[in-house]
Amino acid sequence: MSSELTNQDHCYIGRFAPSPTGPLHFGSLIAAVASFLDAKANNGLWLMRMEDLDPLREPKGAAEKILDQLINLGLEWDGELLYQSTRLEDYDKTLQQLAKKELCYECDCSRSAIKSMGSIYNGQCRNRISKPCSDYAIRLRTENGIIEFNDLVQGNYRQNLEVEIGDFVIVRKDKLFAYQLAVVADDALQNITHIIRGNDLIDSTPRQIYLQQLLNYKTPIYGHIPIIVNAQGQKLSKQHFATPIDTKHGPKLIHQAMKFLGLSPPATIRQATVKEQLAWGIAVWDIQAVPKLANIPESSLTAE
Ligand code: GLU
Repeated sequence: MSSELTNQDHCYIGRFAPSPTGPLHFGSLIAAVASFLDAKANNGLWLMRMEDLDPLREPKGAAEKILDQLINLGLEWDGELLYQSTRLEDYDKTLQQLAKKELCYECDCSRSAIKSMGSIYNGQCRNRISKPCSDYAIRLRTENGIIEFNDLVQGNYRQNLEVEIGDFVIVRKDKLFAYQLAVVADDALQNITHIIRGNDLIDSTPRQIYLQQLLNYKTPIYGHIPIIVNAQGQKLSKQHFATPIDTKHGPKLIHQAMKFLGLSPPATIRQATVKEQLAWGIAVWDIQAVPKLANIPESSLTAE
C-alpha cells in the first residue's frame, strides 16, 4: 500500500499469496499473521499477491473481500499488489524457457490411468512421438535425486521428486498455468527472500526449488507453519466449509492467531487495537516459538 517502497535492495522480502476462492478463514489468517510478523520483525517488506489463476474457483468479489479483511485486521502490505491473472505472458515465457531445454512434454493420460500407476506419474508420455488427440497437460521432467532444504519451522525436509512425486504438471489440461509454475515465476519477479506459509505446501516446496534451479532463480528461505485440521484431519479450508472470519472481532482474532503461533500475548492487551497487538507481536516475534508440528486439531484451539 505504501507505494513508494521498492523491493530492490531489501534483505528480507516476504509475501502473502492467497487464492481468492472465498473470504479469509482462521487457517488462512494464521498464514497471513505469521508471514507479516516474520517480515516486520526482520525489518522486511511484506508483499501481497492475489493468486487468481482459476476463474471457475473464484467467487465474484472474493479477492476484494480478502483485501478488505486484511486491512481491517491491520495487515497492510507494502508496494503494489500483484494479480497473477495479469502475468500470463510471463508464465508463457517461463514455459518456453523450459521447453527450449526439452524439459517438458505433453501428456494426455487420464486421472484413472495415473491412479493405476499408484498416483505417481510414471513418465509414460516422456518419449511419445505422436501428438495427443485429446486435451493434454504439460509436465516437467523430474530427476532421480534428492532435493532438500532446511525449513525454519519444520527442520530438514527432503524429497526425491522422480520417485515421490513424478513428472509434474506445469500447464493443466484446461490450459491454465499450474500453481507450481506461477508461484516460482512470481516469487522470482517479486524478489521474495522468505516464504512463511502453511505446512500443507511443504511437499510442493521441492518442486518449486527444482524449478528455481532449472530457471536459475534464487531459492528463498522457507518456513512452514502448522495447519489447522478438523475432526476428520482435513485442512481448515474453504472446500471444507471453514467459517469466514468476522473482522468485527479483529482484536480477538489477532490475539488467538498470535497464541496459535507460539506467542504469549498478555490478557491485558486483548482489548488493544489490532495494530497495537501486531506491534506487540512484531517486538516479541520468534519463529522458533512456532510449534514444530505439521498440524493442530481445531478442537485444541482454546475459545476465548
Ligand atoms: N495461493 C496459495 C493458497 O492460498 C498459497 C500459495 C503460497 O503461499 O505459495 O493456498
